Amino acid sequence: MESAQAVDRSAPLAGRTALVTGGSRGIGAAISRELNAAGADVAVNYRSDRAAAEAVLADLGEGASAWQADVADGEAVSKMVDEVTARHGGLDVLVVNAGVWRGGPIDRLAPADWSLVVDTSLTGAYHLVRAALPRMKEAGFGRVIVVSSAIGLIGFPGDGAYAAAKAGLLGFVKSISKEGGRDGVTVNAVAPGFVETDMTGEVPERARERMLSRTSLRRPGTPEEIALAVRFLACEGSYVTGQTLVVDGGLSL
Ligand code: NAP
Repeated sequence: MESAQAVDRSAPLAGRTALVTGGSRGIGAAISRELNAAGADVAVNYRSDRAAAEAVLADLGEGASAWQADVADGEAVSKMVDEVTARHGGLDVLVVNAGVWRGGPIDRLAPADWSLVVDTSLTGAYHLVRAALPRMKEAGFGRVIVVSSAIGLIGFPGDGAYAAAKAGLLGFVKSISKEGGRDGVTVNAVAPGFVETDMTGEVPERARERMLSRTSLRRPGTPEEIALAVRFLACEGSYVTGQTLVVDGGLSL
């Protein structure tokens, strides 16, 4: 059993390694910084923007590393997880954050856009967890945190692919939590509402206004506010598993 007394409260992830997919920008960059502040060595994954990943690394200190891999590519993910584990001597926290948004009325949503969204978020989660979970189970400890979305809970016009992928993740999390539980691995989701990042820069103005008018707090969230929820699940949530922590300013109510 894990002992609460054994944990250094100022650096609860000291000696742990965290892999954050899409850790180079937006919410993922804030998560990388927050887990590093909690003491973890952070492996920052990105798809194409090496310069953005290096800018995050510059904030993280010596124990951090950057890894290029498309999470939709199972072989690339498996290689990355092997290499991160070898380089850092283990993998304790996996944050499945990489995602893309493509939207529009379903009759105008191109098959390629559907596939991009689902392959990145949902199939990406499958590749990542498939590679990481056996190691965590063997080590007897693991924290898997999947970044879903409030849109996966409530749906939104023009978000058919995105909502399908993000809702699919919630069922995935529940199932995998039951696979990992007896070996000390917790598996949870965070469901952010509308957060200012490059991704939401692509959302049409009308949709943005509709979303904010439905948000009780009447403002977008910040990447840092989402990162704090991830930190909670990684550091404090030792008896929380299979759950969705909704951090959406009331959007989904
Ligand atoms: P963002 O600013 O667009 O950043 C996306 C990140 O994901 C980048 O680091 C990008 O790397 C990486 N990425 C994209 N496709 C990838 C792939 N196939 N393989 C590896 N990395 C990939 O997005 P964000 O707003 O921070 O969103 C992060 C997560 O939060 C996503 O899962 C998103 O769905 C979710 N979310 C966001 C909001 C919001 O309002 N922003 C709300 C709810 C949920 P490159 O730059 O190298 O491509």
